[in-house]
Amino acid sequence: MIEITPIPAFNDNYIWLLTRTDNQHKSDDSTAWVVDPGDGQAVLQTLQQRGLSLGGILITHHHTDHTGGIQTLLQHYQVPVVGPNNPAIKLISQTVGQDDEISILGSCFKVHSVPGHTLDHIAYFTDEAVESPALFCGDTLFAGGCGRLFEGSAEQMLDSMQKLAALPDNTRVFCAHEYTEANLRFAIAVEPENNLLQQRIKDVALLRSNNKPSVPSTLLTEKNTNPFLRTAEPDVIAAAKMRDADISSEEANIFKVIRNWKDCF
Ligand SMILES: [Zn+2]
Repeated sequence: MIEITPIPAFNDNYIWLLTRTDNQHKSDDSTAWVVDPGDGQAVLQTLQQRGLSLGGILITHHHTDHTGGIQTLLQHYQVPVVGPNNPAIKLISQTVGQDDEISILGSCFKVHSVPGHTLDHIAYFTDEAVESPALFCGDTLFAGGCGRLFEGSAEQMLDSMQKLAALPDNTRVFCAHEYTEANLRFAIAVEPENNLLQQRIKDVALLRSNNKPSVPSTLLTEKNTNPFLRTAEPDVIAAAKMRDADISSEEANIFKVIRNWKDCF
């Protein structure tokens, strides 16, 4: 089974550290993988502190705050670098795409293509993680929000979000940034009457006041409170139409209005 811990980096990035645990007999496997190592030094420091060595690297998309540490890590460890098929990301040794399956630390990870934030964006899902299935979705689905549309269209991003939402409800969402409080401030502007959202804001405020990550969340929580997964809900449609009275209720249109609204919120 895969155990997951955060390595905080920069102002608000999380690099996810994957290790293997064995419930039968405490595994002595000291190999770890990392997801989106934007900062190589932060990873090296954590590996050293925990007596781990690096077994490999997973990349979700080409942005530097997710890839900038690859070179540093490869100077210390000759390991596979798995990522999307984008020549702009130097040093990738194995490219993967939709429906590919890879074995990481003895567990199966499935790849989903999720364009929108960038066109090369992929996510990794495994149901062989401690507690519940785990999703590494980079800058696509955030706790309480979604990534900005730097390269893809609203249609593409909605499609990607819906693809992720189809995974099991108990999937834990390991996104790459601690943006949750700001995202929820926007979410409550869209859906002020959403009771589950009101409660989530309190829960996240408590975590953050104790300096704890608000990530991972679960897909069920996201479906209940994240406006970008709720573009078919009457309250979200109504809020979008308050911004733009002329749009139809088609989900891609609602998504686009909500995303534009968030960009200038
Ligand atoms: Zn990004």
